[in-house]
Amino acid sequence: MWVVPETEIAGLMTPEAAFDAVEAVFASMAKGDARNFPVVREAIGYEDALYGFKGGFDKAALNLGLKAGGYWPNNQKHGLINHQSTVFLFDPDTGRLAAAVGGNLLTALRTAAASAVSIRHLAPRGAKVLGMIGAGHQSAFQMRAAARLGGFEKVIGWNPHPEMLTRLAETAADLDLPFEAVELDRLGADADVIISITSAFSPLLMDGHVTGRTHIAAMGTDTRGKQELDPALVGRARLFTDEVAQSVSIGEFQHAAAQKAISESDVIAIGRVIIGDHEGRGDAEVTIFDGTGVGLQDLAVAGSVVQRAIEAGIAIDVPI
Ligand code: NAD
Repeated sequence: MWVVPETEIAGLMTPEAAFDAVEAVFASMAKGDARNFPVVREAIGYEDALYGFKGGFDKAALNLGLKAGGYWPNNQKHGLINHQSTVFLFDPDTGRLAAAVGGNLLTALRTAAASAVSIRHLAPRGAKVLGMIGAGHQSAFQMRAAARLGGFEKVIGWNPHPEMLTRLAETAADLDLPFEAVELDRLGADADVIISITSAFSPLLMDGHVTGRTHIAAMGTDTRGKQELDPALVGRARLFTDEVAQSVSIGEFQHAAAQKAISESDVIAIGRVIIGDHEGRGDAEVTIFDGTGVGLQDLAVAGSVVQRAIEAGIAIDVPI
């Protein structure tokens, strides 16, 4: 089996490669070539940790496996980040373990790639202002992946904890984009594209905040109970997601669905837009992409990184 340690990922995986891998796997899902397996996520009753597995099989790319890991809230005392994960790939011909790949940076890159894919396919034409809600670890990756698409001339941002906004300001400066901290009503009115990536459990962006043609990538809600958007905003938007069943159960659309403001049939898999089976934004004023995070995304970027690591002579061959 090949081992690609976490420390090597930064030198191997680019946002461009992550974008291509995630766009391809969303397309495979829409064609019926790739399938996510049911997610396992459990409180283990030790160190307050949440642990689980996200797996699947992509018959087109021949990626079979799972990401194992979760959230350890007390990791600071070990000098580690709280989210910890490893991706395991298996040979689909034999079932033998094929690779173990550090999953921490890959998770950030694949999550940012998902919102970037949604922006590429759904943003209003001529989008110039990027609005960021959230200033945690993921937010910098999100901004970088969106900026890479081109066209943005300015970033505006808001965070429930204003002292964290320096991360957004520094990332924008690094990207040579002007940054301004604003209130949510300004953000909703001025931004053409909004990325929300917080750990919120109640709505932050309200229906009244958002005016004009806007695309929203709602990336923070990946668990039952989390929420970033007003269900009334969800109710008037055209809705897209990575995996429809996840969006209405653990994703942002769970709340509008629970209130019967939308139903599962209102939600369109983004892969359908990618393969030309759905028009995408059309004449919708507001589009929302609910990025719930699927195991196939992890397998796609891990598969790509293993190939790169083998080619670069960095992958470690371990007999099993
Ligand atoms: P982080 O801990 O580094 O930052 C947390 C962010 O949420 C900050 O902006 C903080 O101000 C805000 N926040 C914290 N508590 C809050 C509360 N009670 N109410 C409102 N806002 C609050 O986290 P991160 O690594 O940047 O991750 C952000 C979110 O993205 C998390 O919810 C995480 O689970 C989620 N996530 C989703 C995916 C996906 O595929 N959709 C992947 C990775 C992470």
